[in-house]
Amino acid sequence: ANEKFDAIVVGAGPSGNAAAYTLAKAGLQVLQIERGEYPGSKNVQGAILYSDALEKIIPDFRDDAPLERHIIEQRMWMLDEHSFVGTHYRSDDYNKPPYNRYTIIRAQFDKWFSSKVREAGALLICETTVEHLLMDGERVMGVHCDRLGGDVFADVVILADGVNSTLARKAGFHGELSAKNVALAVKEILFMPEETIQARFNINEEEGVVIEMMGSVTEGMVGTGFLYTNKDSLTIGVGCMLADFKSNPNRTAPYALLEKLKQHPSIAPLIEGGEMKEYCAHLIPEGGFNAVPKVYGEGWMIVGDSGGFVNAVHREGSNLAMTSGRLAAETVIQAKAAGKPMSARTLKAYKDALDQSFVMKDLKKYRRLPEVLEKSPQFFTAYPGLVNNAAKTLFTVDGVDKMTKQREVMGSFTAARSLRGLLGDAFRLWRATR
Ligand code: FAD
Repeated sequence: ANEKFDAIVVGAGPSGNAAAYTLAKAGLQVLQIERGEYPGSKNVQGAILYSDALEKIIPDFRDDAPLERHIIEQRMWMLDEHSFVGTHYRSDDYNKPPYNRYTIIRAQFDKWFSSKVREAGALLICETTVEHLLMDGERVMGVHCDRLGGDVFADVVILADGVNSTLARKAGFHGELSAKNVALAVKEILFMPEETIQARFNINEEEGVVIEMMGSVTEGMVGTGFLYTNKDSLTIGVGCMLADFKSNPNRTAPYALLEKLKQHPSIAPLIEGGEMKEYCAHLIPEGGFNAVPKVYGEGWMIVGDSGGFVNAVHREGSNLAMTSGRLAAETVIQAKAAGKPMSARTLKAYKDALDQSFVMKDLKKYRRLPEVLEKSPQFFTAYPGLVNNAAKTLFTVDGVDKMTKQREVMGSFTAARSLRGLLGDAFRLWRATR
């Protein structure tokens, strides 16, 4: 138990696996500790896997990774109670390998990723929880576990322990998780024959469709819904900011929102007959740029959800997790090669690399959005109804002339938001996403 490792990685999700794999592949002595029975047993994701981040770590992952379907069509729907207005983007370019996005089942994917980590030479210990970090003043010396005889030491500890990030909080690296900065998501996996999925979604074998949704389903709370096609199952889910669940006057429970989504007349026929085999709830760090804590210090680094690296607008998390894990590992490898100590000064290179990458650049781009959405419930209440009503007015052929219809639509918007309100909303949205 007194053995000293080059690095200890806490957690075997995508960020921890990316870090442990990269370190072990470079020949470092790595101990990875996971509290779940096996990697993936505790993990929840939609799940869309973005190839690019994984390719940079395991270029030939397509040879044996458990991938469900590659995505050829992206749908974005704005729902009201009984209809939706949507855009669909489908391209044959997405049908040419190497594919860019896949659906995955996290339990299987994490197991596979972990097998690669072990092949690369890392030592993985499961069913073991890291209870706290071993500190010498400011410096992290190792970890204390509920097994393994307690204490294990390393030059550097990489915290890949997910959204709750208990260890960093206990060590005082950052404050409590705020309900304003996390979404609570629930999802189900519904099984049905492959052929049924293919017929319903107009796809062939191995092809997949993603539907991202917003609108009345979240009852004015900041949130979204999703429906993804796996090989012989569909994943359906919905998530809203935790602070909104707490202040929602109807006190609607997350699973009640999911039930409502499943009963929506545009969704129900797609999922009909699906046999529910898995239900889960999980937090997503959605505070964005301003909620990212300090992610390095004396002998420690934070990667993945633990650092709040999620791009909620584009529904990206696992790729930011893998990229941050890889960049943290590369920092350690370079420091080691240069014979430098794992001090805050050395490990700052990790933050610099993050800042240069899409991870921080994308979070920075949307840094104002969480606040704008929090203060603008109309994006989740008034607008979905207005847009759906406008479509209904324009597409219904009923003898009313088109100019009258156009005036009716314009009138409904100005009545709900006033011209100033509409311009203000457009400006705020542009400023928050430009
Ligand atoms: P996690 O995957 O949470 O892994 C953390 C690991 O650490 C866990 O295995 C846990 O058991 C372990 N651990 C925690 N504490 C300890 C401890 N003290 N000791 C030992 N082990 C510990 N991202 C996408 O890219 N695409 C999507 O489609 C998508 N959809 C999502 C849908 C939902 C409903 C949710 C909740 C998230 C979704 N995300 C998606 C986000 C994505 O799942 C996360 O960003 C990603 O899992 C983060 O990886 P991670 O390794 O940092 O954390």
